[in-house]
Amino acid sequence: MPEPGMISFLKGMIHPVMCAVCGRGCGQFLCPDCSSGILPIDINRCCWYCGTPLLSSGAREGICSSCREPGLNFTRHRSYTFYSGNMKRIIKKFKYSKIYGLDNALAGFLHKTYRKYFIRESIDYIETVPGEHTKKLTKKFSKIVKIPFKGNIIKIRDTRRQSGLDLGARKINILDAFKLRNCLIYRDKNILILDDVWTTGSTLKEICRVVRCGGARKVFLLTLARGA
Ligand SMILES: [Zn+2]
Ligand SMILES: [Zn+2]
Repeated sequence: MPEPGMISFLKGMIHPVMCAVCGRGCGQFLCPDCSSGILPIDINRCCWYCGTPLLSSGAREGICSSCREPGLNFTRHRSYTFYSGNMKRIIKKFKYSKIYGLDNALAGFLHKTYRKYFIRESIDYIETVPGEHTKKLTKKFSKIVKIPFKGNIIKIRDTRRQSGLDLGARKINILDAFKLRNCLIYRDKNILILDDVWTTGSTLKEICRVVRCGGARKVFLLTLARGA
């Protein structure tokens, strides 16, 4: 019986790992060339809470109009980059084509943003929006930062896809769609919730509401990309 290492080596000879963007059989799911074009959001002025880039004039104290409305229920959200180009391609490959070997590359982008904005927060648990691909990504990230992923947020009813709905319809679509498996473990804890894409934030804000109802002290949000 050959060793497991030998088996994967032989598999690699037959089906070499290809870059999910350019398709070159380079042995990596995302080659350095395709990765190097995915640049972090670098803005001087963004909303203190949700990270939306702000025009220098017209905004008060660096807080966007949406976050000035009552009911803000998270402490800070940041995305690694914008939802376009190669990042959009690899998120689609990861989510729809289930190329889960991209988990390492994607978790690496999250880690960069985590180190920049969240490392000084004492985060107790990592969570995510329920879904197969988000769970894979969160498990990988949780191992990198050595903070437990609890999987305590569950979806309790079907919802329509959010894309194509306007803001009001998105909020209604997602309302009361989630609950906590164990409603005691978040009490006085700081939670970091991950997701792939932030568009209007409706889903994440609804999850924050549920997590806050469970007694969480601070809720932070980290996504790969934000709608441009
Ligand atoms: Zn490539
Ligand atoms: Zn904001």
